[in-house]
Amino acid sequence: RIAYVNGRYVPHQSARVHVEDRGYQFSDGVYEVCEVSDGYILDRTRHLERLDRSLSELAIGWPVEREALGRIMIEVAARNRVRDGLVYVQVTRGVARRDHPFPSADTRPALVVTARSTDRAAFAAKAEEGVGVITVPDTRWDRVDIKTIGLLPNVLARQQARDAGAAEAWLVDEDGIVLEGAATNAWIVTGEGELVTRPAVSGILRGITRATAIDTAAALGLTMVERGFTVGEAKAAREAFMTSATSQVMPVVRIDGAPVANGYPGEITRQLRGAFFAHAEKIAVR
Ligand code: PLP
Repeated sequence: RIAYVNGRYVPHQSARVHVEDRGYQFSDGVYEVCEVSDGYILDRTRHLERLDRSLSELAIGWPVEREALGRIMIEVAARNRVRDGLVYVQVTRGVARRDHPFPSADTRPALVVTARSTDRAAFAAKAEEGVGVITVPDTRWDRVDIKTIGLLPNVLARQQARDAGAAEAWLVDEDGIVLEGAATNAWIVTGEGELVTRPAVSGILRGITRATAIDTAAALGLTMVERGFTVGEAKAAREAFMTSATSQVMPVVRIDGAPVANGYPGEITRQLRGAFFAHAEKIAVR
């Protein structure tokens, strides 16, 4: 495997960053994960736009031009012969003597890009069955709209899910509203067949898969509304699912151990999953 680290393509096993990288010391960085499906990177433009926003919210500069990063993403995917998998992009504020305020303006942001294949067949089988989620209180800071590498609450929530035999933890606010998953956006389908997901103005990450799922739903003529839904509403929903670059549109069939409806992936979820690829932006890995 090959990784890109600050201007160089290096063997993955010897890819290194400095011990005083601010990502390592302060989680002072941001990231993106793009899906590769059937030889195409999906929604690269939207991912780069979100990266631009994350960087500007934290006043971190672009490590390379946006177009150059787009090419590096393709290159890393191609060098690793990824047909189905993921491309990971991380930008940190760079290497400087440890001190909380920003380092001097000439500190170069650090860029790492990696890619790996995933097992398409195993993944499809999982989507056929659906997955379980648990619900846990949200313990994160209030700038979760920025895709930072500071993911400790998400790590703890995901581990809690794993310990409970579930695939994801849905993070719940003080009013009992489901915000999103530890690394996915959360959706339900109501008894009236309406798609519901929480607005992304603040309090959640504006998922790229979420955005493309909204486009897909519109193209399919499905009705959808962006509003908060409670844990109770989710447990009584006709269908539930989650979206992310790593899970695309993944049926949720159990919440806190109890089946959603009959415990099988729902029809609207299947429809959305089936049509998703057609509505995503596709850039060939070559
Ligand atoms: N919410 C959180 C907290 C995430 O970390 C992620 C992805 O990692 C998502 C939602 C889904 O976003 P996307 O569809 O862009 O992968």
